[in-house]
Amino acid sequence: MYEGAVQDLIDELGRLPGVGPKSAQRIAFHLLAAESADVVRLVAALQRVQAEVRFCVTCFNVAEGEQCRICRDPRRALDVICVVEEPKDVVAIERTREFKGRYHVLGGAISPIEGIGPDDLRVKELMTRLMDGQVTELIIATDPNLEGEATAAYLARLVGPLGMAVSRLASGLPVGGDLEYADEVTLGRAFEGRRRIDA
Ligand SMILES: [Zn+2]
Repeated sequence: MYEGAVQDLIDELGRLPGVGPKSAQRIAFHLLAAESADVVRLVAALQRVQAEVRFCVTCFNVAEGEQCRICRDPRRALDVICVVEEPKDVVAIERTREFKGRYHVLGGAISPIEGIGPDDLRVKELMTRLMDGQVTELIIATDPNLEGEATAAYLARLVGPLGMAVSRLASGLPVGGDLEYADEVTLGRAFEGRRRIDA
C-alpha cells in the first residue's frame, strides 16, 4: 500500500502477535511522527533484549545471564515446581505473591491443531528436573483452555509414577482464557484452592 521503508515497517509490525494490519499502520505512522530520541530508545531496547536476554538454563523463564532471578534466589523453595506455558505466566503468578517455589516454563501447550506435541515443549527438561527426587509437589498452571487442559492431563499422567503430589489451579479462572488476564485476587485464590490430580 505504501512505498519502501514505510511498508517494510508496517509489514514487520504486522508480524507481531496481536497486531493486525490496522494497528500496524497506526503504530508505523506514530513512529514516523515521533521524536527521534524516542525512536532511538525503542531501537536500543530491541537491540538489548536481542543481545542480553536469554532463557534460564534451568526453568526457561527469561533471564539475563545463565539463570533467571527466581532460580538464583536461595529463598525460593526447591520442593515445589509450578509449570506454566510462557514467561508472562510467571509474571502473572509472581504478582499474586502466593507462590514461593520455582517454575518450569514449557514454551507453549499441546495443540494437535497447530501440530504442537510434547516433544515441541520443554517436557523432557521438566522430567530431568523431577528425577532427583527433591520435588514433592508439582502445580500445573497451564491456561484454562482446551490446550492448557490437555497439557495438564498429559503431564499428570506422565509424572504420576514419580509419586509426587500433582495439583491443578482451582476453578474460578475465566474458562477459555489466558492466565495472564486473570486478576491477582482470582489467580491468588485459584492457587490457594488448587486441587490434587490423581493420575
Ligand atoms: Zn529459572
